[in-house]
Amino acid sequence: MGGTVALVDCNNFYASCERLFQPRLQGRPVVVLSNNDGCVIARSNEAKALGIVMGDAWHLRRAEFERWGVQVRSSNYTLYGDLSARVMRVLGDFTPDLEVYSIDEAFLGLDGFADPEGHARALRESVGRRTGIPVCVGISTTKTLAKVANRTAKKDPHSGGVCYLPDEASQTAALAKMELGDVWGIGRRLAPRLAALGITSPLKLRDADPTRIRERFNVVLQRTVMELQGTPCLDLEQDSPDSKTICCSRSFGRAVEGFDELAEALTAYTSYAAQKMRAQGLATAAVVVMLTTNRHRRKAEQVECELPTPSGPSTMSVWMSAEEEEADAASRVYVVCSTVLAACPTSSVLADPLNQPGPMPAGQVNSISPSAAAMLRA
Ligand SMILES: [Mg+2]
Repeated sequence: MGGTVALVDCNNFYASCERLFQPRLQGRPVVVLSNNDGCVIARSNEAKALGIVMGDAWHLRRAEFERWGVQVRSSNYTLYGDLSARVMRVLGDFTPDLEVYSIDEAFLGLDGFADPEGHARALRESVGRRTGIPVCVGISTTKTLAKVANRTAKKDPHSGGVCYLPDEASQTAALAKMELGDVWGIGRRLAPRLAALGITSPLKLRDADPTRIRERFNVVLQRTVMELQGTPCLDLEQDSPDSKTICCSRSFGRAVEGFDELAEALTAYTSYAAQKMRAQGLATAAVVVMLTTNRHRRKAEQVECELPTPSGPSTMSVWMSAEEEEADAASRVYVVCSTVLAACPTSSVLADPLNQPGPMPAGQVNSISPSAAAMLRA
């Protein structure tokens, strides 16, 4: 018998964030576009009702969107990250066991709560009141079943945004309304392989023999089956493991042709990446810089620069030999620019007089590496 676990998922998260600051978007179809305004990555319910799907290319559907009065927004990840942190802080008031699973999802351990459903309704109201973000809550005995419950809460207009599946009867009823590919971890590739064995629905998957599933597939799918049966196999992960890499990457909204402008952007992205790294108490031994020209014109290039010593909390400096770049770089067009830090624990930082604790002085990250500069020349 499992415990009690809830999954909180923000509704149409990016679209909801945009609405928060523009109340006139309430009740209207809203879509958020990917970097560079390429394709649809978030839709309000009204946009979904119009048949707009994830990944729809904006440039192909622009005229249609205008005709329908669809409100189109460029993505603003800084805003979404900030609102996500606010939502997670509220959730932290409702349980000591919180796993932030993604920018808009969290698992909550609710063992020992007498009335999990009432607690979830209070939580949902509190998140709405304190952050303005609408969420749905699914509660059940395992994480996989909490996902099922959350989906049910979203789909059922009478749920009030909360669905509790405490026993096999309620779980069976919810699973009966789903497709196999809707089950957490199944997806489009696994579903046909399962169908070949006669497992064509979530209920058939739940009733499969876990040992046989492990023999035919793997332990991950075996765990999914056991979780559907109500046996918890996935713990709440409250301490997220250290990042192996930290990346900050953006597409420019328009072509960037000047070296200075490019260096400025790269400096900013390196700073953001270093900021994330410091917040996690990590250091780095290598910096990777990727610059991509318009992908329809030139293939992506990448360069990695090894630091002489792992760089710690205060020093994330990268060097540039800029003088000879000016003339040449101006003739190119760069559309993507990013910095990746290969992170390692701060404790592994070598003794380095420059690695002083404390915040990084403004302007310290002010250049790009010689190898990146060499790549720009190439
Ligand atoms: Mg969501």
